[in-house]
Amino acid sequence: MAENCTAKGCKLTVPAGLAAEHLCVMHFTLVIENECAEMRRETALSNTSHERQKEFMKKISGRGESLVTVATSGFSMSDELKARVLSTLLTLMNTRENIDRSAMRQSAMRRFVG
Ligand SMILES: [Zn+2]
Repeated sequence: MAENCTAKGCKLTVPAGLAAEHLCVMHFTLVIENECAEMRRETALSNTSHERQKEFMKKISGRGESLVTVATSGFSMSDELKARVLSTLLTLMNTRENIDRSAMRQSAMRRFVG
């Protein structure tokens, strides 16, 4: 039974791969973009703990997996939506890189101080 997206005002179908999210592909990418912006902000502003960084990375790879699974599942998507999926994957990759860099900076700093 196909379900409709739970985002406000959206009537699009939720693909099988996103059943757990209750979102259409478009709104799923929006959620990911927001999460990534949030993770980048937190990483840039504070000394994110190692645990928190691991949490972020787990989230990023989980989101990436869901997105790729849906994109390659045969669910029909417009070219525009495909482009959106690709740009969201890029956001995930860049966010991951961002967190890696900040983790390296932090450990270099610790070595410097300690
Ligand atoms: Zn939607």
